Amino acid sequence: MNAQIRRQIMERLKAERPEPESELNHNNAFELLIAVMLSAQATDKSVNLATPALFAAMPDAATMAQKTPEDVEPFIKTIGLYRNKAKHAVGIAKALMERFNGEVPQTLKDLMSLPGVGEKTAKVVLNVAFHKPFIPVDTHIFRVCQRTGLVQAKTANECSEKLEKSLPEEFRLGAHHWILLHGRYCCTARKPQCTKCPIADLCHWPEKELL
Ligand code: SF4
Repeated sequence: MNAQIRRQIMERLKAERPEPESELNHNNAFELLIAVMLSAQATDKSVNLATPALFAAMPDAATMAQKTPEDVEPFIKTIGLYRNKAKHAVGIAKALMERFNGEVPQTLKDLMSLPGVGEKTAKVVLNVAFHKPFIPVDTHIFRVCQRTGLVQAKTANECSEKLEKSLPEEFRLGAHHWILLHGRYCCTARKPQCTKCPIADLCHWPEKELL
């Protein structure tokens, strides 16, 4: 795909949702970090239902670090893989207290040194909480890129790196949300809404249905 078409795609996705926000509810970087970790293989909706009570009981790293995974489990029982995630939550809080003065670090390397925090989670935190131009790739973004031809990649991490290199700078901060929400609400896994799609004429997917 050439640079001009890439730019047109991003301009149209931006026009659809000029000021997108994370659909994971949070009040600060610590809450966002825990919420993103909890959202792996779960819906944002299920995480948003669980986190208000969790953060009311454990509002910061200092408080959560004093707890055990068994203390966290009852709050997140409705979220998939909750036992592992409870261990990661306490592990993250302890690591923040021991190594980062209770604050969420602002580099990819430091974030990825925390338990249960992979590249995608780290990039979401850097993008959403610290406004750094990373483009984390989830299943929705990967699908949109594969179908449209925005970038071609075999893995989510490769896709993320290619987007970060190839999208015009002015779109890099918002690209994560613009492409994700397009995938979540229009270019859905099953029955994508190609007839209503704002980038249908630019999309390379041979199976797109325009009638
Ligand atoms: S035309 Fe269809 S397949 Fe292509 S981006 Fe739009 S919704 Fe997705």
